[in-house]
Amino acid sequence: MNYARIDLHLHLDGSLNIGWAYRKALQRKVIPENESFEVFYDRLFRNNTAHSALSITKFDLVCDLLQDYDDLYEATYDLCRRLNDLGLIYAEIRFASQQHCKKGMTQSEVLKAVIDAAEDVMNDFSIKVGIINCLMHKGDSVSFNYEENLESIKAGEQYYGRGVCGFDLAGFENNCPYADYAPLFEIVRNKGMHFTLHAAEMGEGSHILDALAMRPDRIGHGINCIQDERYIEALKEADIPLEVCVSSNIKNTRNYASHPIRYMLERGLKVTINTDNMIFAQSDLANEYRQLSMIGVSDELLEKCMYNSLDAAFCSDELKSELKKRL
Ligand SMILES: [Zn+2]
Repeated sequence: MNYARIDLHLHLDGSLNIGWAYRKALQRKVIPENESFEVFYDRLFRNNTAHSALSITKFDLVCDLLQDYDDLYEATYDLCRRLNDLGLIYAEIRFASQQHCKKGMTQSEVLKAVIDAAEDVMNDFSIKVGIINCLMHKGDSVSFNYEENLESIKAGEQYYGRGVCGFDLAGFENNCPYADYAPLFEIVRNKGMHFTLHAAEMGEGSHILDALAMRPDRIGHGINCIQDERYIEALKEADIPLEVCVSSNIKNTRNYASHPIRYMLERGLKVTINTDNMIFAQSDLANEYRQLSMIGVSDELLEKCMYNSLDAAFCSDELKSELKKRL
């Protein structure tokens, strides 16, 4: 049976079609005009994220390709269509609207482009799509982009339930004290909107406790919970689903057996299986399930993960029962 039907953690900017990205990068002059496809490919897949010549990271590079309505629309439509072709029935696609305002679009206009594409895909294909707007960890203090983060909440709220299904905290987990983001997510929670938080991915396991204190609906990654029994117990007690993205976490080693997911499953944590970034991780959801099967995760557990994803989705109960029938 194919369990790879629902992806809850997938970044738009990290999952572009690479041929499309290369053409856009040349057109938008974000890479040298004589750069070959091979060099561009290498640049996106290389382990080292910094490219010294342009001093931009991989994420900055792909974000630079998504700075107007048409590019955002095309990229989103293309991604959702690929997911539909891969057999997914539901996907939550995340990105940070504040990263796409370099040419003067407002965050609300940015979201509109992505939502328009998602709506058109849903009219043209059977996949259902929700958009998660990410707040960003940037700079060395929460005040660095506080206004932009506030605006991300406002713009997301405008489309909440009409394209936007939730919020997230993404970026560099260790830049400033994790708990400093709590007041922003208190706003989100007080408005009754869903949110997840990247936590204990590259950052300390203790971020699990900081994240749980903000009472999110889910946690992104959370794999460093294995650093301390207290973090695992806190996750079990809160019964919080974890969005685990194995290939993305082990992309430098490709050693699937080294990933803590089997231990997390053994400990009874509520695991969901996701892709994170299709280009940077060189993966898709079917590959995630396949690799886990190859390292000995039973069909029974894989099926459980799939149903965990359904339960944890930021969509209406009505859509959940429709999706359940399709599973
Ligand atoms: Zn992520």
